[in-house]
Amino acid sequence: MPDAPVCRYGRNMAIRITITQKILLLILASVLLLCLAASVLVEGLLIPIRVVGASMAEAFLGPHYRVACPQCRYRFAVDATLLPPSQKIGCPNCGNRNIDLENASVQLGERLLVDRWTYRFRDPERWEPVLFRSADPPLDYCLKRVVGLPHEKVQIVAGDVWINGQCVKKDWSTLWPMAILIHDASFDAPNRDIPPRWRPVTQVDRWEQREHGFRFSRNPSTEASEGTG
Ligand SMILES: [Zn+2]
Repeated sequence: MPDAPVCRYGRNMAIRITITQKILLLILASVLLLCLAASVLVEGLLIPIRVVGASMAEAFLGPHYRVACPQCRYRFAVDATLLPPSQKIGCPNCGNRNIDLENASVQLGERLLVDRWTYRFRDPERWEPVLFRSADPPLDYCLKRVVGLPHEKVQIVAGDVWINGQCVKKDWSTLWPMAILIHDASFDAPNRDIPPRWRPVTQVDRWEQREHGFRFSRNPSTEASEGTG
């Protein structure tokens, strides 16, 4: 079978293109890549920011210390912008007030990529975190969570959010990512500086304290007679 003219011609063309245009293609690709990066990352589709405050902790951490309590081993984050002059902080789990941060190193605020395009097609919804420019000081970015929508009356009553006179509850899928752990019985300390957060209200109570945690007894008298050790 005779060689196809296209093959001979194509091989010659390929050599000429590689030699003469390789550098130009490389430059062109670099320029396109830079333009794309600038478009996406610098006031384009996405904005890279670093969190600088503690108002959105624990969801978004600003400058902070990562601390492990030497008494109960509970791990938690401490805002690095509002430390007491003594550089000592307390453990939120056991109350140990002698955790020294003098030699601890500060972790920078978390980095976020903020999507600028979603709200061009729809409005923000309640409970969504949003980034916006503040009026005072001007042009600073603020990261907050949406609670009230336009023309709504917002109230906080006994810790609950009320909108237009109705208590607003989060559904489970919304609540779970926003939940903050306030107590972990796995890290109980032998010598607590604060009273235990969880304790029976009455002498006869179905909640029974174990070494790590609690157990709810259906029948306290039966459970007691069976023993708990
Ligand atoms: Zn502790």
